Amino acid sequence: MTFANRHIGPDTDEQTHMLKAIGYASLDALMDAAIPEVIRWHGSLNLPAAASEEETIAELRAIASQNRVTTSMIGLGYYGTHTPAVIKRNVLENPAWYTAYTPYQPEISQGRLEALLNFQTMVTDLTGLTTANASMLDEGTAVAEAMTLAKRASKSKSMTYVVDADTLPQTLAILRTRAEPLGIDLQLVDLDAAEALPGEYFGLHLQYPGASGAVRDHAQLIEAAHAQGALVTVAADLLALTLLRAPGEIGADIAAGTTQRFGVPLGFGGPHAGYLAVRAGLERSLPGRLVGVSKDADGAPAYRLALQTREQHIRREKATSNICTAQVLLAVMASMYAVYHGPAGLREIAKRVHNHALTLAGSLTAGGVEVAHNAFFDTVTAVVPGRATEVVAAAATAGIDLRLVDGDRVSVATDETTTDAHVAAVLQAFGVRGTAVADCGAKPLARTSEYLTHPVFSSHHSETSMLRYLRKLSDRDYALDRGMIPLGSCTMKLNATTEMEPVTWPEFANIHPYAPAANTAGYERLVATLEEWLAEITGYDAVSVQPNAGSQGELAGLLAIRGYHRSRGEAHRDVCLIPSSAHGTNAASAVMAGMRVVVVACDDLGNVDMTDLHAKIDRFKDQLAAIMVTYPSTHGVYETSIADLCAAVHEAGGQVYVDGANLNALVGFARPGKFGADVSHLNLHKTFCIPHGGGGPGVGPVAVRAHLTEFLPGDPLEPGEHHAVSAAAHGSAGILPISWAYLRMMGPDGLAAATGTAVLTANYVAARLREHYPVLYAGNNGLVAHECILDLRPLTKATGVSVDDVAKRLIDYGFHAPTMSFPVAGTLMVEPTESEDLAELDRFVAAMIAIKGEIDQVAAGVWPAKDNPLANAPHTASAVTADEWEHPYPRSVAGFPEGVDRTAKYWPPVRRIDGAYGDRNLVCSCPSPEAFED
Ligand SMILES: *Cc1c(COP(=O)(O)O)cnc(C)c1O
Repeated sequence: MTFANRHIGPDTDEQTHMLKAIGYASLDALMDAAIPEVIRWHGSLNLPAAASEEETIAELRAIASQNRVTTSMIGLGYYGTHTPAVIKRNVLENPAWYTAYTPYQPEISQGRLEALLNFQTMVTDLTGLTTANASMLDEGTAVAEAMTLAKRASKSKSMTYVVDADTLPQTLAILRTRAEPLGIDLQLVDLDAAEALPGEYFGLHLQYPGASGAVRDHAQLIEAAHAQGALVTVAADLLALTLLRAPGEIGADIAAGTTQRFGVPLGFGGPHAGYLAVRAGLERSLPGRLVGVSKDADGAPAYRLALQTREQHIRREKATSNICTAQVLLAVMASMYAVYHGPAGLREIAKRVHNHALTLAGSLTAGGVEVAHNAFFDTVTAVVPGRATEVVAAAATAGIDLRLVDGDRVSVATDETTTDAHVAAVLQAFGVRGTAVADCGAKPLARTSEYLTHPVFSSHHSETSMLRYLRKLSDRDYALDRGMIPLGSCTMKLNATTEMEPVTWPEFANIHPYAPAANTAGYERLVATLEEWLAEITGYDAVSVQPNAGSQGELAGLLAIRGYHRSRGEAHRDVCLIPSSAHGTNAASAVMAGMRVVVVACDDLGNVDMTDLHAKIDRFKDQLAAIMVTYPSTHGVYETSIADLCAAVHEAGGQVYVDGANLNALVGFARPGKFGADVSHLNLHKTFCIPHGGGGPGVGPVAVRAHLTEFLPGDPLEPGEHHAVSAAAHGSAGILPISWAYLRMMGPDGLAAATGTAVLTANYVAARLREHYPVLYAGNNGLVAHECILDLRPLTKATGVSVDDVAKRLIDYGFHAPTMSFPVAGTLMVEPTESEDLAELDRFVAAMIAIKGEIDQVAAGVWPAKDNPLANAPHTASAVTADEWEHPYPRSVAGFPEGVDRTAKYWPPVRRIDGAYGDRNLVCSCPSPEAFED
């Protein structure tokens, strides 16, 4: 059996059965009927023929072996760390964690929500602030979001943002990328030179400790900034904060940074969880997802995503940020690292790291080498006039990479993995003999306050207890390892084990993003091949995998369009047309790219309203920068008007951005780069098998036609013409082997078969459910693309049963709900994908039909509108087995509805959660254990 036959759920017989049900003789016939000829591509992908799982692993081993794993002491925000084996195997390599979806259905997500609440508590405790979100994409983008947060929250009218010159260089690059389109003026200030601050500024950014390693007392600067109405962000190293005064304690309004060194492998730059925390009063301006505590129908504490109305799904161009997919899996790992080590353990690690730095500094000084700062945590900058290159080369010979700052300076960063032998080898590279311990000047900044005092951080220090805690949490959650997750617009397909395996190989996991090129040939080859394959699949000329989420791909693509117009002297083109049905990230990204959003209406069939489009093009002709359309449409339909749409926009001088998140309906059959688009982003965490991780990681490559190639993202460490959108040149490189393996194992035929099967399963589900729930929108021949929208509005109107009720009742039937109320309120959007076999599809269809039967009972008055299995869903084991049962339907109907396997029932841990209560009473850190007593 080939890998494609393992990846694609339905076998030939099952496909024949489904084709028959929808009236087509073959997959080819179905695709011919579904896909409009204007976009159809009849070629065959020029990709290598499918390799077996074993061959693919062997090829990846060969590629991996071209990477050289060294001891990295480069630092700059990326550090060696020991991932506790219990966390590596039971989180990072465990499908119960990595195949989960974003916790929009909180009742089936309590495990990861608790882990994220631990993450938020860890961040707020260490930073000394009150509210932290549930992760950012990396430190650079977290700091950039802090800048825009400061702009929104500051009363100052100034457009000046003051930035500590000792900021990480990659962070500076991203700040530049983000500031320019918004008209924000960055002013670098050298704090050591005591340079004067400008008269007026809306925000101040400080790095703590600095990129050079220096630890400075920022309290006075912060006071001065506040005095003139500016907000202050401190980018802080969380491990250092176990020993140093917290940003909140020295007056910071915002703290941002990374949690990578809390047990998350380097991965050549990612994925890692960035963090962002704010003081009281700013929580409602916070970007990203935020976990909060609320209560369920029994009044028991329960977790959920809080303040979602801030997010781009609802606020669109007025959102706090475009961030959607974040870094949940990595945030879970970092939080578990803190749970495993506890406050004392973290402090011990930090002291060891610091002691190694003290020995380095002391020995260098004793050996006659000047050390640039006397107050530091883990990074020592040595001044070696004219000798820096030589020292770095000598260390490299000993297998240790140091940071070459310039011809005269070398930085050495110690971390959790640093040993006495490493320190000795580094000293030798400097030509220093004998050791001495420096006296650190950071003592006045020593931390005195407690942190991680919640019992969760001191209860699971034995491996047995840790293992059971991880199991307890993952058992509360529903992920792809239990059953299908039919989420529209999210493509929850198989994440094959063979694709996942290479991620934790040391040759991929333990490479610093700024490692010397000589050590990263394997990664460069992997990235180049993957970019080439993605260009072939999309029909574009060039691809960059740098963006570490779809949202960042959008920003990168729009910045490319912006750069293009500017290069042609048309900087005034700033209008971005966006259809009303678009994903919320589109509008939010356009604003970040400095564009004005103009909404284009959709017609009754869900297509872009061409009359309105032409009217808007006429109105904004000379200002038109771009249109952003999703294809197939957000409504899951292949629109035939796409070619006309592209032509009309081009004629007016605009560029066409096709949101390619739904590429699962196109691969092998249509290529956006050839049917009229200029730029797209793809979501490797949708179409190309990177698991969703419970809400991240992701990779959002940006693909462009030749005329936009020069505007693709550039290396953040090589500032110049090219904007960087992520802190590392190849973004979340550590998970690229997943998509590489998928493409290698599927080959051109397998990929086309996957697309065909995805369209088949969507049309099969639509056909089977159509008589029970109207299917909204269809394209050619009444066919949908890869997903379908079930309209519940007539039923809701007649019976009061809502989409929420159906979504929660599906939990009782053992399913994750489809996408709720997007893109149309009151509907469910179902995307079955090619990976679900007929039995699972039929099980889902049967559950939906049975639920329709239950709605009919409500309609008929058999069950009251307020007390029925739908209104009370989901039912917990505790509710069903309660000594008292006063509902008008039996317990068996509540807990074991039709088709549920009684021996393998998934029981949600909480009843329906009250969302509004949690938003009114915002609690975003771990509740005390007493809260759980009745
Ligand atoms: C998922 C999605 C996005 C956003 O991607 P993220 O990785 O979550 O940032 C954008 N557009 C569409 C159509 C999507 O489905």
